[in-house]
Amino acid sequence: MNQEGLLFPKGTIRKKRKKHHKSIIDRDAKGQCFICGKTGYTERHHIYGSANRKYSEQYGLTVYLCPECHRTSDIAVHRNKEVRITLQRIGQRTFEKKCGSRDKFTEIFGKNYLEDE
Ligand SMILES: [Zn+2]
Ligand SMILES: [Zn+2]
Repeated sequence: MNQEGLLFPKGTIRKKRKKHHKSIIDRDAKGQCFICGKTGYTERHHIYGSANRKYSEQYGLTVYLCPECHRTSDIAVHRNKEVRITLQRIGQRTFEKKCGSRDKFTEIFGKNYLEDE
């Protein structure tokens, strides 16, 4: 087959396979919602978003969530601040257990989510 003229001739696109760092969160498993425990389709959620998303990825601070707990329900992590903060506290606790000190966490993520402990 003449591939000339094709926008993306076969072979020229190398599929970028994003490397996922394994989550360090205990009990986190693909196919089971971290919040409600439902099994099935799950989406990967970065516990710390926007500017800190890359650090969430780097340190494995991600969880698998069902679409309801992730986005669509009233208690979805992206719609409910309390749920979001609860996960961020779990994330920080795990970081402090496995990655480094509270100072280090605060330095990287710019916030201490466990200040009242
Ligand atoms: Zn769920
Ligand atoms: Zn998310």
